Amino acid sequence: MKNGKGFQRIRYNLNLMKKFKQFIILFTVAFALSFCSNEPRDEADTIIYNGVVYTVNEKFETVQAFAVKDGKIIATGTDEEILKKFKAKEIVDAKGQAVYPGFIDAHSHFLGYGQSLFMADLYGAASWEEIISRVKAFAAQHPEEKWIVGRGWDQNKWPGKSYPTNHKLNELFPQKPVLLTRIDGHAAIVNQQALDAASITQGQKLTGGELETKNGKLTGLLIDNAVDLVTVKMPALTINDYLKWLSKAQKNCFEVGLTTVTDCGLMYNDVQTIDGLQKEGKIDMRLYVMLSDDTANYNRYLSKKPYKTDKMFIKGFKVYADGALGSRGACLLQPYNDKKGWYGFLLKNKEYYDSIAHVIAKTDYQMCTHAIGDSANRTILNIYNKTLQGSNDKHWRIEHAQVIHPVDFALFSKSAIVPSVQPTHATSDMYWAEERLGTERIKGAYAYKQLLKQNGWLPLGTDFPVEDISPFKTFLAAVFRRDAKEFPQNGFQPENALTREEAIRGMTIWAAKACFLEKETGSIETGKKADFIILDRDLMKIPEKEVLATKVVATFIGGKKVYNQQ
Ligand SMILES: [Zn+2]
Repeated sequence: MKNGKGFQRIRYNLNLMKKFKQFIILFTVAFALSFCSNEPRDEADTIIYNGVVYTVNEKFETVQAFAVKDGKIIATGTDEEILKKFKAKEIVDAKGQAVYPGFIDAHSHFLGYGQSLFMADLYGAASWEEIISRVKAFAAQHPEEKWIVGRGWDQNKWPGKSYPTNHKLNELFPQKPVLLTRIDGHAAIVNQQALDAASITQGQKLTGGELETKNGKLTGLLIDNAVDLVTVKMPALTINDYLKWLSKAQKNCFEVGLTTVTDCGLMYNDVQTIDGLQKEGKIDMRLYVMLSDDTANYNRYLSKKPYKTDKMFIKGFKVYADGALGSRGACLLQPYNDKKGWYGFLLKNKEYYDSIAHVIAKTDYQMCTHAIGDSANRTILNIYNKTLQGSNDKHWRIEHAQVIHPVDFALFSKSAIVPSVQPTHATSDMYWAEERLGTERIKGAYAYKQLLKQNGWLPLGTDFPVEDISPFKTFLAAVFRRDAKEFPQNGFQPENALTREEAIRGMTIWAAKACFLEKETGSIETGKKADFIILDRDLMKIPEKEVLATKVVATFIGGKKVYNQQ
């Protein structure tokens, strides 16, 4: 009873304080408006006031208010300062809620995500039988599709954990090609129709890929480069396909507070189409682009300066060193713990990566290399160091930097190489990663704090659609090293957890820096683009349990409201 009364009193006091605060704010606004009615005030387009505004500036300061004009932030300060100095048609009361810079995803596949929203969704399926029934249902709902395409299966989630064969797909779809991509995009199962369309025959040789066989017959399982043999045979895309995918993708992204995303690996024609849609005002999302490792892209871009508009910046090239840990395609220094004598493999030989690095180093472009295994990471780190030779501002990146040999961490800081990491990979893979790596090697895996120490900054992303698009999941995984099920109890390798501030910086200003955008976005400071979000709770303060319940109230890009919570 005693406690109960005490609690009531505290609540009463809180209510009183809240009322008092509201009164003060009203008073301030009224005071500022009346006081200034005689004095000329500067013209702004929008004023945001009464917020807890995390500027994410150098000192990580908070302010109450800021003013926006022509898509840019023109001043930050207290409510009184801003309301006194500016008038604006649109005045947004943040109602005491948290305001953050718009989230930036430093590693994602925006176009691929949009596309995946119109494919058979195979994520989270608990068995191959479940995959088959989902594909059947999708095919029945989309009879117009010439190919049946699906993505997201993961045999690690099935009983037995073994790869499927195309037997059932051949039986169900004797006329239509079927392509079902694994969750990491590094393996696919296809039916006989698709094998025929790509003229794949048993015994065919290729580098950086595998055509799996059983009893001398192709099973339809394709690993890494083998998948491309099929995808190049798929029908050409139309502009309406792009618009349909990107519109849905950006809608979902705005809802979770993303205002800039990276597309890690696009072809020049994808880029041209997206650029056109942005210029027509049909796509608002800001995009940092890494072009795919393809001769056509090198020929078109390397001789020119990086391409830049208000919404798009093309300055990177995305190269793949190896595959993924789940499909045992990651290239390791010592054999896999759960496959005798198997090391995984590099997708191309060392000379290739060396020559690409050499060519890109002579330009203004950034080299970004996917490296998962400790051997792949060592190979690329050595090539980068040899090419860059010490301090530089090229921000060459290693994407994922997932398994690092203990002595190799120092290779990052030697030439300011940027590890670009995705915290939800840690909490997704933690269930099986140790089976692949064993108890010793796992300690150098998903080691974000250790990587952060290398350069003092660390961009974060999700790798969506491999993971969910939600930056809140990134925050949860980075800070608490636990997943939505609150597993494991003490966090997965908690010594590699980031602080809240580090995680927020990683999702905003450090992600911007990895994309050479830190002078224009990633923080709420004068002169920056007005990309910001209002949240219904404050990530810097709420308990872990509330992180995933956090909702975006509104998302602004360049001062324009692109999402408003209903
Ligand atoms: Zn990726």
